[in-house]
Amino acid sequence: MRVHITLECTECKERNYLSTKNKRNNPDRLEVKKYCPRERKVTLHREVK
Ligand SMILES: [Zn+2]
Repeated sequence: MRVHITLECTECKERNYLSTKNKRNNPDRLEVKKYCPRERKVTLHREVK
């Protein structure tokens, strides 16, 4: 049930994280606050295809 996803910074569009999620718990596009090394601050990261 777990699928691999990529998390992209919503501000600079850098793809910073590879992760997994449970499709049953998170059927929608995942959004998490994470550290962006390019901007050196915490930004919102969104799941991309
Ligand atoms: Zn960024």
